[in-house]
Amino acid sequence: MKCNHVEFPNSATKRLKQCYTPLGKKISLNNSISIVPELIYPVSSIQKQLSNMFKRPGFEELLWHWTRHSIIDNVLSDIYDSQIWKNLKESSEQESNNFFRPDKADAHLRLMMNLDWF
Ligand SMILES: [Zn+2]
Repeated sequence: MKCNHVEFPNSATKRLKQCYTPLGKKISLNNSISIVPELIYPVSSIQKQLSNMFKRPGFEELLWHWTRHSIIDNVLSDIYDSQIWKNLKESSEQESNNFFRPDKADAHLRLMMNLDWF
């Protein structure tokens, strides 16, 4: 298996040039053929990553940081100053509690994905 990505699909001269980086290879196992990836990216589960973060000294204290964050009117200096942080509800019901509130600072966590295309 090879990568069929074309870096410049709109170029008249380069649009037919595919990457062709090997992605996987065939191996035979017990009289059957298998395809295994060339590269394996080890990723631990979210549960394991959260467990590791909570084991770090001072992590839980950091979860409380935003409750002591001083707010300057009309200045967005952190995500804590945003309307979504202030107004996000626990459920879709309008009268439900705010998701981010001081009494749940170390229990109500939102996850965000970042990708660097490496
Ligand atoms: Zn490629």
